[in-house]
Amino acid sequence: MAQATYLYAIAIGSNRPHGRFGAPARVVEAAIARLDQDFGLFDASPIVLNTAHGGAGRDFANAVALIESDVEPPETLSRLKALEREFGRRGGRRWGPRVLDLDIALWSGGNFRSRKLTIPHPRLSSRSFVLQPLAAIAPGWRIGGLNLRHLAHRLARRPQRG
Ligand code: ADP
Ligand code: MG
Repeated sequence: MAQATYLYAIAIGSNRPHGRFGAPARVVEAAIARLDQDFGLFDASPIVLNTAHGGAGRDFANAVALIESDVEPPETLSRLKALEREFGRRGGRRWGPRVLDLDIALWSGGNFRSRKLTIPHPRLSSRSFVLQPLAAIAPGWRIGGLNLRHLAHRLARRPQRG
């Protein structure tokens, strides 16, 4: 196997059941297994269930995985999108609703910016369902001047929307 050059933190989310895998938490679990096959799993957070507010929405399952990859961010994103499509397909008939969201939260290369991709993920510091699990497995990873433990702590004290 090729030497892994980069570490990526992938934010995983699901809010629709999958025909074969089942409830969102099972979808996230299956996605972590696939990330391990396709890239190589360095670590994964526990899966967190986040209840939808207001009664109308669906409950979310979220987790963060650290994966190793020797490819650059645009190629990593397109591989993640392929995985989302694979999970989104229902009944083998047509592309159904997407059951899986895979975002690049961070990568070890620092900042990356193109028309289609911004790393760190723009909403990372305001999303506790990403920041909390990420801080649990990579507390010392720094964004700007602060490490993830500090950012998660700050968000818990001063919650933001989005
Ligand atoms: P969202 O994740 O915001 O719910 P999508 O998964 O449909 O919505 O993503 C929309 C687009 O956001 C992607 O096609 C991608 O080009 C862009 N994008 C920008 N930055 C990132 C990132 N860090 N990780 C994943 N997608 C990103
Ligand atoms: Mg996404």
